[in-house]
Amino acid sequence: MRFPSLLGNDRLKSLFAHMPADKVGSAIILSGPDGCGKVTAACDLAAALLCTGEDRPCGVCPSCRRLKAGTNSDFELFGEGLEKAPNIDQVRDMRSRSFIRSGDSGFKVFVIANADKLNPQSQNALLKVLEEPLNTVFILTCANPMDLLQTVRSRCTVYTGEPLSEDIIIAQLNKEGLGSSQQCAEAAKLCQGSLEKARDIIQNGQPAYEKAAVLFARSLGNELAVYKASNAAGSLSRDEYLHFCIELCRQLSELVCCSKNAQLLIELYDYIQNQMNTMAQNPSVSALSGALAAFCGDLYGGNICPKS
Ligand SMILES: [Zn+2]
Repeated sequence: MRFPSLLGNDRLKSLFAHMPADKVGSAIILSGPDGCGKVTAACDLAAALLCTGEDRPCGVCPSCRRLKAGTNSDFELFGEGLEKAPNIDQVRDMRSRSFIRSGDSGFKVFVIANADKLNPQSQNALLKVLEEPLNTVFILTCANPMDLLQTVRSRCTVYTGEPLSEDIIIAQLNKEGLGSSQQCAEAAKLCQGSLEKARDIIQNGQPAYEKAAVLFARSLGNELAVYKASNAAGSLSRDEYLHFCIELCRQLSELVCCSKNAQLLIELYDYIQNQMNTMAQNPSVSALSGALAAFCGDLYGGNICPKS
């Protein structure tokens, strides 16, 4: 099976290259970082499963042609680009339709994008069809399978995508005619392997919370720099500060792998997690960012240099 529309993700592509369709599973989770192409991969996989040609998806059989024209009734995509996840009634409706026998391929493929946004009630409503699918293959996409109910995860085969390389992102941005070559190179560096994010950076610039988190992470090991970086974080809005915390934790978890001061970074990580949990009780962002700087300074003398 091939993934003709999917950029990068060589590991996923080679995994599926020689996999027979009946070994893919009927309840699938496609996970991976935001913007790595999970929904594209899910749609390619759906096309390959429904294809009746040789080199799946062949692009020319009746199923492939209908899919391209958007008229293949054996394929449905839920939850993409929605602010809100499908509600319980929509999930029940989807479940009922999954029992209806398909006309052409003998089965159907339902892709549920951002399945981690489904509330527990909606996820529970899917358990039966994930366990004993009748006529439908379900492909759920999400950034992290751990954000789904354990009961959902245990019924699915999990496949994982990878962040896109800078080269692939630059080539794609150039192809789309977005930004100057310098802007493309800059966005590719900052986007953490997400094409969507790279496009967003070119169109809207790097978000303030992310700039502040990068500055803070780079300042670790220098007390004065940490103080300045926390001042910058203190001027964010409450919502931005929450995103700053999430982004900083993400960066810390990356730094931990290559740091001799891993334990200190973990303690800082825990402190920030705790700040996020108690944000509702603390009205002032500048108090939070000040406390963060004090935590770094007081406990470690500013000496949390990730590289040493
Ligand atoms: Zn085909």
